[in-house]
Amino acid sequence: MSRALRTSLLCACAVIAACDDTPDVAPTPGTPAPSESPRDEQDIARRDIHDAFKLAQRATKHASDGGGRAWVESLDGAPLAVTAGTTGRWRIVYEAGELGVARGGAVYFQVSPFFEWSTPQVEAPDAAGFTRIATEAEGVELSAKTLDQQLLGIELGGRELRAGERITIDYGCGPAGARVDPYAEPNSRFWIAVDGDGDGVRKVLADSPGIDVLPGPPAMLVATLTSSARAGEEVRLTLALLDARANAAGACAATLELTGAASELELPSSVVLGADDRGRKTLVGRAPADGVYRVQARAVLAERTLVADSNPLSVGPGPRVFWADFHGHTAVSDGSGTANDYFDFARNVAALDIAALTDHDHWGMLFVDEQPELWRAQVDSARRAHEPGRFVALPGYEWTSWLTGHRHVLYFGEQAPLFSSMDERYESPEQLRETLRDQHALIVPHHPAGGPIAIDWRHAPDPELEPVVEMCSAHGTSEALDCARVIHSPRPGHFARDALARGYRLGFVGSGDGHDGHPGLAWKGPHYPTGGLAAILADELTSDGVYRALRARRCYATSGPRILLRFALGRARMGEAIPAAEVNREGNLYLQVVGASALERIEVVVGASELLSIPCRNELEFSASATLSDLKPGEFVYVRVLQLDGGMAWSSPVFVE
Ligand SMILES: [Zn+2]
Ligand SMILES: [Zn+2]
Repeated sequence: MSRALRTSLLCACAVIAACDDTPDVAPTPGTPAPSESPRDEQDIARRDIHDAFKLAQRATKHASDGGGRAWVESLDGAPLAVTAGTTGRWRIVYEAGELGVARGGAVYFQVSPFFEWSTPQVEAPDAAGFTRIATEAEGVELSAKTLDQQLLGIELGGRELRAGERITIDYGCGPAGARVDPYAEPNSRFWIAVDGDGDGVRKVLADSPGIDVLPGPPAMLVATLTSSARAGEEVRLTLALLDARANAAGACAATLELTGAASELELPSSVVLGADDRGRKTLVGRAPADGVYRVQARAVLAERTLVADSNPLSVGPGPRVFWADFHGHTAVSDGSGTANDYFDFARNVAALDIAALTDHDHWGMLFVDEQPELWRAQVDSARRAHEPGRFVALPGYEWTSWLTGHRHVLYFGEQAPLFSSMDERYESPEQLRETLRDQHALIVPHHPAGGPIAIDWRHAPDPELEPVVEMCSAHGTSEALDCARVIHSPRPGHFARDALARGYRLGFVGSGDGHDGHPGLAWKGPHYPTGGLAAILADELTSDGVYRALRARRCYATSGPRILLRFALGRARMGEAIPAAEVNREGNLYLQVVGASALERIEVVVGASELLSIPCRNELEFSASATLSDLKPGEFVYVRVLQLDGGMAWSSPVFVE
């Protein structure tokens, strides 16, 4: 490999190294909560990644970089489209553009580095991902080498590749084929990049070719019921068939049978699913008298029968609960699928009430902050999906700072500008906040305790712009080290509880941070340790209603299941503050939980180090009251819920002042 190709590799390493979603550390529940860390442990910066991006931004691209075109052809008669999680083989043809590719230049072939595609390799013919490179251009010598995960470099020797001359890349041409990623999506890309002049700087072909990755057969049924209603109001039950990897199964024939409270909710006892239904159906019923209701569903398919229990519906005068996933990615950055597919899945498969799409500003194969048309298309997709009163779709993005931690920005108004973390005008949290102060926007610090990067809590959250923190996501939980399914690569001192101990008033949300195109149901797939949902206690299902609830911290987090949770300390509801004297004199703690499945225990967290555990004897519903005394100003109290199946929920805290 030439010096030029190695220099080029440096940047690719940086891009790939930190996108690992796989948990590698799982501390045992019961580990004591961390105490305040020394100051130097607060520095979480990944300067290597930040500097590599800055270097790449400054690199001058030659006119021949990114030149030419590419397409996919069938190899040995194998189909182009392929089922997720299986194997396939393809021929990718690259044709040089007008300026050609110089001797010493290179063509790069990369399958998505974020999923499970086989790494293209030229060394082991019998192993997966074996790739054969060829050209008919006489005098051109090709030397190919795997440079990194999923990345093959093809260096040109002999002479230049002239305009119109071609290189063929036969990917998966050995007996093992090439492994396909587990997530269905249209136009999954085979990325081609070209260093036309041989200076080590390459550019991706924006229209790199792709193939369709199709869902597998139905393997799961999900039944999602409205969570809260007044007697007589409409309620909805959404039934969705998923494949084994939680992809929407698509067109299939099935009969759906409903039992449990179906007849009380005025739902049909059976309904037929046809090809036009695309494997999902939303039924409308009516809320009966006050109480808790659940529905059981069965999908009878030609080859198998699938069953599902719905989440609980609580009919009564309590607060309305809407379900949100505020954080997810599409193929525009490092996820799967299109923005339109994302919102369609959120509303019609996962039955979310609220969804935000938050692709990275500067991460992935194409960077949104360098492609304004990509950003506009994302925002337009959210606008089209938005239907106040029925489904709130919010535009947003992930401010992907490798210096102070990742935060997503959510827009609730007319404007949705993108202020990139790579732009020196917006590269600190303080600069971002000043810029967003005039916008109808909120910022959410996420995976605060670790994962790709923790949050640097020395940058105190702004109470107006950052009222909540992400408690859990596909990366794991960030509550405290004594919580189950702790985030991978945890950083003591950076947990949500550590932030509360600093005196920050933060409510809790869960989000998917899914990269699989399954907002709201990331936790159903086999790849993530947890998912995340936010329960929004709002008066109305509008952008403003959601904004007001988040600002008031009238929300709570779950790891995915739609657990119903009410919690108050004296007259303060979750998210609010109460004077210490008042709560010590007369403040009873009150909590009520309706599990999505059987409850194992409920824990009351008081301040940074005290934890009261209440066993629930596997009941589905649980309520309790207790008297807390000796609370001091600056302390906080919140509730966490653990189901037998591992599902979790966390109330936003009440803050003692
Ligand atoms: Zn992130
Ligand atoms: Zn993310």
